Parts: sequence; structure tokens; C-alpha cells
Amino acid sequence: MAYLLKARTPVLKKGGHRVTSDFGPRTFVMQGKTVSDNHLGIDLTGADTSRIDDVIAFADGVVTAVRDGVSGYSRVNPAGNYLYIDHGNDCQTRYLHLEKGSIKVKKGQTVRAGDTVGRIGATGYVTGAHLHFEVRIGGTAQDPAPYLSGEKTLPDAKPTSGETYTVKKGDSWWKISAEVLGKGSRYKELQALNPGKTSLYPGDVIIVGKEEPEKPPKPAPAPAKTYTVQKGDSWWAISKKILGKGSRYMELKALNPGKEALYPGDVIVVG
Ligand SMILES: [Zn+2]
Repeated sequence: MAYLLKARTPVLKKGGHRVTSDFGPRTFVMQGKTVSDNHLGIDLTGADTSRIDDVIAFADGVVTAVRDGVSGYSRVNPAGNYLYIDHGNDCQTRYLHLEKGSIKVKKGQTVRAGDTVGRIGATGYVTGAHLHFEVRIGGTAQDPAPYLSGEKTLPDAKPTSGETYTVKKGDSWWKISAEVLGKGSRYKELQALNPGKTSLYPGDVIIVGKEEPEKPPKPAPAPAKTYTVQKGDSWWAISKKILGKGSRYMELKALNPGKEALYPGDVIVVG
């Protein structure tokens, strides 16, 4: 029986997640025949009467596989139109049976949690339109339900770039903004850094600042210019030679603190 799942981390844009088939071993009727299999994902439709909704990325990541172009029911392409998103740390989510032509992303593209990536369809080995959603960790399919509900988070769900903040009990966007940015009214800036994130729950990690741009390495101090004192040299004579004016000799003295008398062969700093 279909039931509604309350998704803290949604994969459908409108947020309603109607589960039509759970993860794990199951028996169902496919084209008049009873079929048993081990379901590696969870089947979802939109909660409203259309049952169709846009599919959004579960978490930040990089698209690693895309297939588009399957028109409808297909045994040859059982997954239909699909895409995979890699979230780092050997975590991947998969989105199957998408509507032909609906996939908005390309292989290699970076996506943020909540980005629209496609639309529920009925392509592949399906009985009707739905999203087959998978969570894989180390290549092994996990029950996606606790990930959607927020009971579990991907091992590396923390944003990998930018300053982050871990939501505490009683926090709101306003409160966090007041704490982090000094003004509650700047909370929209925080929301802009966390697209797709609306509700806050204790333990959530949100981005609160852009990553510090890498500072260019400090140029190494130029090696000091030196001068080897010749016979007959004086501060005045050296200054005249090097700085063009004997009267600037105090500048040379300042570069060589403690040095008064000059002897041939002494090396002094001149710039
Ligand atoms: Zn499925």
C-alpha cells in the first residue's frame, strides 16, 4: 500500500513523497505475472493527484552517469532514463525511470542539493510513472527511506567547501544569521548559500560563509643588495656611487645598524 513519507531531505520538488514500493525483497505483479525481486531502491511518486513532480538532487555532488532518450516501457533499458550523482566518500544516489528529455544535467556537472535534475517518468521496466531512488554507499544499495526522512545522513553529507555551522536545537535562520553574520535580517544570505534547504533540524550542517579565497603566497623578500667595501670608501662615497648622492649616506647606515667604521672587504647592505 502506498503511504506518504515525510522527507526532511527531499528528492521531489513539491516535497510530497508517496512511497509505492519499499526497499528490499518484494513480490509484485508485472504485466499479469507475479514477480519477486530484491528492490534496490524506493519507488516514489508525487503526493498530489498528478503524481508527477520534478526530481531534485538529494545532496551536493557531481553527475557521473546520464541516460536520456528512452521513450517509455522498455525491457532492454530497464532503468529507463536515469542519472547518478556522486556525493564523495563513496556515496552515490541514483534516479531512474525519468521522463524522456527531462534530464537537466550533464555528466560531469556539479549539482547542489535541491537542484532540479529531471522529472518523474514511466521509462524502462515499469508499471507506471514513478521515481526509483537509490542510495549507495561503497557500491551497496541502502534503504533510502531513513535517508529521506533524515534519520540517517550520508557519511560525508557535510558541505565540502565554505564555512559551516551545525544547527542547534531551537535555531532558526534568523537566529543563526544573528549569530554568524551579526544581523538576523541578513538570513536571506544564508538561505542563498544553502539552496533547496528550507527547514532546519538540529544536527544539520549548513554553509554560512564562502570559502576563504586562497591567499597568494607572500613573495619572498628580495635578497638584499650588498656592496663590498673598497679601499678608500666612505659612507659618503658609497652613497654617491650607489644612491647617486653622497648626502643620502644615512639611508645606507640605516640599512646596516651598528656598523660605523668601514674596512675594505666589508660587505654592507645597500638596498
Ligand atoms: Zn524501483
